[in-house]
This record gives sequence, structure tokens and C-alpha cells, in this order.
Amino acid sequence: MIELSASEIADATGGTLVGLDRDVRVTGSVTTDSREVAAGDCFVAIAGENIDGHRFVDVAAHAGAAVIIAEQDVEAPHVRVESTITALGWLAREVLARLREGGDLTVIGVTGSSGKTTTKDLLGAALSEFAPTVFPVASFNNDIGMPLTALRCDENTRYLVSEMGASAPGELTRLTSIAPLDIAIVLMVGHAHVGGFGSLADVATAKSELVQGLPAGARAILNADDERVATMAGVAKHADGSALDASQIRYFSATNALNDRPGLAATDVTLDPLGRATFTTAGATLTLPITGAHHVNNALAALSAVDALGLDVARAARAIEAAKISPHRMALTERSDGITILDDAYNANPESMRAAIEVLAKLPAKRRIALLGTMLEMGGEADEQHREVGKAAAQAGLDWVICVAADPIGAGVRAVAGTEVRANAVQTNDEALDLLTPELTEGDTLLIKGSNGAGLWSVADRLATEK
Ligand code: ATP
Ligand code: MG
Repeated sequence: MIELSASEIADATGGTLVGLDRDVRVTGSVTTDSREVAAGDCFVAIAGENIDGHRFVDVAAHAGAAVIIAEQDVEAPHVRVESTITALGWLAREVLARLREGGDLTVIGVTGSSGKTTTKDLLGAALSEFAPTVFPVASFNNDIGMPLTALRCDENTRYLVSEMGASAPGELTRLTSIAPLDIAIVLMVGHAHVGGFGSLADVATAKSELVQGLPAGARAILNADDERVATMAGVAKHADGSALDASQIRYFSATNALNDRPGLAATDVTLDPLGRATFTTAGATLTLPITGAHHVNNALAALSAVDALGLDVARAARAIEAAKISPHRMALTERSDGITILDDAYNANPESMRAAIEVLAKLPAKRRIALLGTMLEMGGEADEQHREVGKAAAQAGLDWVICVAADPIGAGVRAVAGTEVRANAVQTNDEALDLLTPELTEGDTLLIKGSNGAGLWSVADRLATEK
């Protein structure tokens, strides 16, 4: 973070100093984890569902926190605010405003029902090639993770890539009020969190908040292959309510279907035996470091931002080829015993389930097995969506589907007339392991996928390391 005094932090957060010297300065970073506090840091106590940060204020003070922000009575000197989560956002807003005024910070925001983390990893790697870039660790995309990431920016930062997630209307408006976007990227509209929104149209409306309230001269980058996203051009607005003009809107298409709209399209898309796509765009040819044709979209979105910033797309393409992707996203491990694990267990929704099943169906293997867990936050559509995933697995011609705590997936498999796909339903991850482990043999490729809350990533970790 940039250096700030306790009184500047109190001003930015609407807080009051309680026993704290107004001139004490934060010279380090901002953290909500007391274990990470170093001398000169700012510790923000957040009352989480499981852990209340206020219990660790003493630890933070002991570790040398210069400023502590709290919303409850605590012994140590602190800045008292009404809500520490709100304060975190306001502090980030202040820091970003100062850095923007300084003139050299460009903020790029990424939203969409799927692909945000992958895209920010690709874009973060690409922009780092040109100038100091801050982008989130893991999937930091909510009202805690997004500001915490923004607060890592300092005077040297040239680009901030912000992952922006939403599970309800108004959330993106709140995030973009903290971090106004010079470039706003919308990837796709799907069923993720549909339970919190209502319908797909409602998801689209909520995602379109990303392209509203933009600063003057901002650009919107929209997926031409997703009609719900492409039409967001019609609602893209500046903060003063004026519409963006056509030159501020760019599109990308993984199917070479820009239809005369300005932007980047992928041509000559091919998949290698590990399911990694190679394609050409803007004169550059690249091979993605990640399995699945659906990631062409995400890479194009990243390259579109590079292009819009006037940077060299071919150089960015080289950086993308070498990008490190956050774990449990289409991570392919070839075990020494000839069993291949495709770990996509970070999260799941109907679109990403289908995309992963397609990838598995195309991988060379003697047997294609899918271990599929529950998709959370589907609302009233849950049973139907799970059944559809089961049907897709059967139609894709997989050999064996094991569903964990997601019986309708199995029912969906069996609902496909004449299917020979074996389907098993188990209720716990341990049962799944007990069923699978003795049966896996050389030549098997196993996809593992479910919502984060289903915890299948722990099964993936076990199976990917078990030789
Ligand atoms: P979250 O909302 O959980 O933060 P995210 O938007 O950050 O998710 P990623 O973590 O990048 O998304 O990817 C999540 C899942 O979606 C992965 O299984 C990935 O393979 C899949 N995915 C990524 N892009 C697409 C796409 N364009 N279409 C379908 N599935 C996709
Ligand atoms: Mg994410």
C-alpha cells in the first residue's frame, strides 16, 4: 500500500481514533489475517462466519501492526468503524483514487459466471510482462478479497487486475464504486449463483453493472459469442450517465464470429492430445497452458485488454503460454501408473460442468470417468440442472459417472435411452474414494468436479499425488 497515517485512514474509513496517535504511519501492507502481520502493517479485524478477527487484535498489535481497524471494543489502540468490511472498501477506494490522481494506474475488472480467475491469471501474467501489475491471489473477488488486492497497489503499480464476483444484484456496483474500471471485461452469463438472482436474464442484468458507472475514456470488452454479454454494449455508461461511444467498446469471439464488430477473434483453433488449445489472433499464435477449448474465450478476453491498452499482443501471448493458473482449474496430472487426473474441482456450475465433460470426452483414454459433485446455489433449478449434467455426461459417451451427494446426476445419466454408461451414486467423498481407488487402472482418465463447498478438491489432491 501507499504510506498513510492513522488520521488519513480514519478519514478514509469514516472512523474515529481510539487511543491511537494520529500521526502513526502504515508503511507496510493491509491484512485481515493476524498471522501475516509484520511491523508497520494495518490489521483489519473482520468478524467472519467461523473466526472473529477481533479475537486476534492483540496478536496483531504484538506483531507490530501500526494501525488496527475494528468494529468492536478492543483493548489495543485502533481506528473504530461501524463496519470493517465497508471500511476496507473505502480504504481501497481512497488508495486507488490517490494513485489514479498520480496518473499512472490503470484498473481492469473481470466478471462473468465462469472464467474470472482463469482470465485474471492469464491477464496478470500478460501485463506483468510490460509493467508492475497487481492481480489477485486465488479467487479474491468479493467485498473483502477485491479491496485487499487493490490495497497491494503502490506508486510503482501500473496495472491492477481485479476479479469481480457477484451473487446478488448491486454487488458489482459496490465493487466498481471502490475500484472504478478503465477496462471492464464481461466473460459470460451462466447459471452460477442463479439461485441468488432468479433467472439468467437477472444474472445478465447484474453482470451488466460492471459496464456502468465507468470513468471517462473507459473501455468495455464484451464476449461476442454470448448474446447476453454482447448486448451489454447497449447499457454501457459512464458515471455521469452518458453512453459509451462505439469506439470504447470491443468484442472477442472464440468462434470467429465478430460479425464486423471491432475486436479479437480466434482462428485455427486446434486441441492437442492433452486438450490444450492452440489458436491465432491478431497475428499471434499461442498454445494455452490449460486444458479445455473453453479457455480460448478467457485468453481472448485477456489479449483484448492487452490490445486495448496499446501493448504488443504477440509478446503478451508468449507470457500467457507460460502463465501459472490457480490450482484445481483443469489441472491435468499424468500419474506414473498411467492414470490421468483432470482436477477441475475448484468450482462448478452447469456451464463449466458441461465444458469439463466435453474436454474429458475428447481426451485420449481407455476409460473416461467423471466424479461429479453437487453444484451449489442453483435455487429451484437445482434438481433439473443436475439431471441435465447427468444427461450431458451420458450423451458425451463417458464410461462411468460417479456422483457424490448429487443423486439427480445419476438419474440424468440413466434417463438417456439406451445408455451404457455406468452410474454410481455415493453420498460422501470418502465413499467415492473407496469406490474408485481399487478400480482405477492404467489408461483411465478421471475428471473431478463439483462446487467448492463439496470439497472434491481434497479427493483430487489425494488422487493426483497417489502413485
Ligand atoms: P468463481 O465464481 O468461483 O470465482 P471463476 O469465474 O473465477 O469462478 P474460474 O475459477 O476461472 O472461474 O473457472 C471455474 C470453472 O469454470 C472451471 O471449471 C473452468 O474450467 C470453467 N470455465 C472457465 N471459463 C469457462 C467458459 N468460458 N465456459 C464454461 N466454463 C468455463
Ligand atoms: Mg474465481
